[in-house]
Amino acid sequence: SKARVLVVGGGYGGATAAKYVRLLSDYRIDVVLVEPEPAFVSCPLSNLVLGGSRELADLTTPHGTLQSRHGVKLVRDSVSAIDPQKKTATLASGPTIAYDKLLLSPGVEMIWDSIPGLKQANASGQLLQAWKAGPETAALRQQLRAMPDGGVFAITIPEAPYRCPPGPYERACVVADYLKQAKPKSKLLILDANPDVTSKGPLFKKVWAQQYAGIIEYRPQHKAVEVDARSRTVRFEVQDEVKADVLNVLPSMRAGAIAVQSGLANSNKRWVNVNYLNFESTAAKDIHVIGDAIQVAPAMPKSGHMANSQAKVAAAAIVAELSGWEINPAPMLTNTCYSFVDAKNVIHVASVHEYVAAEKTFKAVHGSGGLSAAPNELEGTYAWNWARTIWADSLG
Ligand code: FAD
Repeated sequence: SKARVLVVGGGYGGATAAKYVRLLSDYRIDVVLVEPEPAFVSCPLSNLVLGGSRELADLTTPHGTLQSRHGVKLVRDSVSAIDPQKKTATLASGPTIAYDKLLLSPGVEMIWDSIPGLKQANASGQLLQAWKAGPETAALRQQLRAMPDGGVFAITIPEAPYRCPPGPYERACVVADYLKQAKPKSKLLILDANPDVTSKGPLFKKVWAQQYAGIIEYRPQHKAVEVDARSRTVRFEVQDEVKADVLNVLPSMRAGAIAVQSGLANSNKRWVNVNYLNFESTAAKDIHVIGDAIQVAPAMPKSGHMANSQAKVAAAAIVAELSGWEINPAPMLTNTCYSFVDAKNVIHVASVHEYVAAEKTFKAVHGSGGLSAAPNELEGTYAWNWARTIWADSLG
């Protein structure tokens, strides 16, 4: 009988892996993809929806081409349990699916209890994260539109590592751009648990000082420990509490719930340790994990581009093993991350990561990659082309 790869999660990592297992096996290996969402909605570029220059529809791609063009079997459900001994996964609706190889790319889960009050505030719709693109993104946009001129928008950032290191700083810029035009008396506070801006720091700081002087204020070393939704107040470990009209509190994050529940999150009970040669979990044989859920190697960001790149390494390893091929992999991963500083102007950072056998980890290749000199519109065009290309690569 045919070998079967079961993929859990149809985001940047999982969709790419599902497609590439089919391609690399010449369509010999069956692939089943379990994903509860009706369509893929990109987190990259979703900050523009908050800023008001784009809509969620611009970021949405159906999963259907994976099935119609590549023969991936799509199952609209979520996996609620995994049995690594029997090599089966149970769907929330009840049935069990057997696998030869399981590939998980479940993304991140918010650690709600790291900030008391936050979970209830999210459930009631009062304090939103919008750290997964979708209905929360649209709802946070509505809060922003309803904010009075002269109001305060505050975003809190958890200690690294979290999904998308530059994402909160990009969000601050794009929201400030909207405020500058629509509500110019307003303020935007960045309350960062980290000691400094963790990605593209000097570039962001220059934009805040020049383009958003009097609007954006950056406060490092602000670790949120409690929220009060009614008074829209956030309290910190050390610093004074802050009240805002719109409060966007990002708590600490860990691997998606299914990885944590299955005992795979063996790094600090947060992330999944993997063998970087094939992305197999160190906790369970024949379970491969990619994307935001893994414990990253040094200098490796939790990004969509990285998840897409890891997916190809994992897919190649899985196909080789199921086909009985001897391979001697020496994987390389790439990353490019564009950040909008307003609706049009963009900065980027890029890097190449090479597997170093002697240290069993990935390291950034010295002299590879690069960084923008300053925000510019041409990179805005590149950013959209990057997105269209990666969506086509993952889902087309
Ligand atoms: P995801 O893409 O989140 O996919 C996980 C999928 O798994 C989801 O579809 C989910 O529904 C599904 N799932 C979860 N649990 C289960 C289960 N039990 N059963 C079945 N399915 C399940 N990255 C970039 O490269 N460039 C950017 O410019 C960029 N900008 C960003 C901006 C923002 C505001 C944010 C929030 C993120 C940004 N990122 C960016 C990061 C990027 O979105 C993530 O790194 C990427 O989505 C990780 O891919 P993933 O496959 O690990 O997770």
